[in-house]
Amino acid sequence: MESHDPGLQYGRTPEEPVNLIIQGGTAVTMVPGQQPIRNARVLIKKDRIMEIGPSSEIPFPKSSSMETIDAESAIIMPGLVNAHAHTAMTLFRGFADDLPLKEWLFEKIFPAEANFLSPETVYRGALLGCVEMIRSGTTCLADGYFFQDQTVRAVHASGLRGLLAQGIIDFPAPGVPDPKQNIHMGKDFLEKWHHFSHRITTGLFCHSPATCSKKTLRRSHEICREYDVPLQIHLSETEMEVAEILRAHGTRPAHYLDQLGLVDSHLIAAHGVHLDKSELKCLHEKDAGLVHVPESNMKLSSGIAPLEEITAMGLKTGLGTDGSASNNNLDLFGEMDTAAKLSKVLTRRPDATKAYQVLNMATLGGAAVLGLDKETGSLEKGKKADIIVVDLKSPHLCPMFDPVSALVYSAGGSDVKDVIVDGVSLMREKELWSLDQDEIMAAVREIAKKIR
Ligand SMILES: [Zn+2]
Repeated sequence: MESHDPGLQYGRTPEEPVNLIIQGGTAVTMVPGQQPIRNARVLIKKDRIMEIGPSSEIPFPKSSSMETIDAESAIIMPGLVNAHAHTAMTLFRGFADDLPLKEWLFEKIFPAEANFLSPETVYRGALLGCVEMIRSGTTCLADGYFFQDQTVRAVHASGLRGLLAQGIIDFPAPGVPDPKQNIHMGKDFLEKWHHFSHRITTGLFCHSPATCSKKTLRRSHEICREYDVPLQIHLSETEMEVAEILRAHGTRPAHYLDQLGLVDSHLIAAHGVHLDKSELKCLHEKDAGLVHVPESNMKLSSGIAPLEEITAMGLKTGLGTDGSASNNNLDLFGEMDTAAKLSKVLTRRPDATKAYQVLNMATLGGAAVLGLDKETGSLEKGKKADIIVVDLKSPHLCPMFDPVSALVYSAGGSDVKDVIVDGVSLMREKELWSLDQDEIMAAVREIAKKIR
C-alpha cells in the first residue's frame, strides 16, 4: 500500500476485518465544529466505529465477513439519547389525560401503579417502550422507576444502552410497600446490577425534593457516591413544588438540594421549569446535569423551562420524553421540534434555541448529562457504534437544504430505518431484529384490559 492511500491517514490497517459498513448519504456526526459529511462511509468493527469520513477517503474494505447498510438518500447520525424516561409507563399511555399534575399523579397514576404494577407488567411495559424507542431512533435511555429489575431485563433484551435507576420515594411504592425499606432496596438494586452489563449503568432515582425526606435524599446521595453512579431526580417541575419547598425549608428546591450536598456532577435533574437564575448558576457551577422535558411540561401545564437561558449558561443539558402517561409517546424527534419552537415562543425570538442546539441536547449533550459522552452521543472513531440511519425518501423531507434542519423540524421517529447499538443491528430497513413487536403489543393490550 502506498503512503498516499487515504485509508492510512485514518490509521487503519487495510486488512483489518470490518463487521459492518454504512455508506452513502450524509453523516451528521455531532462532533463539535464538524460539518456534515456528504457521501459518507462508516466502518464498524465489533462494538466500535473504526472509521468515519467521506467515501472518497475511506476505501471499501475487502473483508468477506462484512455486511453493508445502504444509507443513500438518508442521514447517518448518532443514536438519540432519551435522558429522562419511565419506560414501563407505556402501560398508562392515554389512561389519564387533561388533568393538573397533582390530580393526575395522586388520583390517577399513583393508584393505577399501586393496583397494576407487578414485575410482569413492568417487564412488558418496558419492552413496549424499548420497541418504541428503537423504532424512533433512541439508542440510549435514562430511566427511573419501580420493579426496576424488570426494566433492566427488558433493556438488556432489547439491545439498547441504558442508565437505569431504582425509584426512591417516601410513600408505599410498587415493589416497596414499606417506605422504610426504600434505601435498602435501592442499595440492593445497585449491588445486583452494577456490573451486570457494559450496556447498562445503574443509579438511584429520588422522585422529588417534596416526596423524599432530607434523610432519604442524603442517604441516596451517599449510596450513589459509594457506587460512583448518578442520582436522578425530578426538580422544580411545578410552582406548587417550589412553594412547598420554600414553606418547609425556607429556600428554593435547587438550593435545598445543594444544602443537603446533592448538587454535584452526579446529579441529573429533570424538568427544571421554575429554577431561578441563582439556582441555574448553582447547578452550572457544580456541573450538575439538567434534562429538558418540554412535552410533558406542556401536557401537565407545569410551565416552560427557560431553555435559551439554560443553554446560554453552558449548563449540561439533555432532552427527555418523561413517561408515556404525560407525553404520550417516546419519540425524541417530536421532542426536539417542540423544544426548539417552545423556546422561540417563550423568548419571542425566532433565533432562540437553534436546531443544532436541540439536536446536540438529544445526542452528545444528553450523553454528557448521563456521564456517557466518552462512549456515545457522536460519530467518532473509537466511540461505540450507536448509530441510526434516517430515511429521506418521504415527501415531508423533500427537498433537503440542511440536514440538521431536516432532522429537527421535518423528520419524525418513523423516518428512522436502521438502528445499531454497540455495533449490533436492532432494526434494519424498519424491521426489528431484537424484539418481537407483535407479541409485546399483544401482552400490553391484555394488561390494558385489566387497567381499563
Ligand atoms: Zn419523570
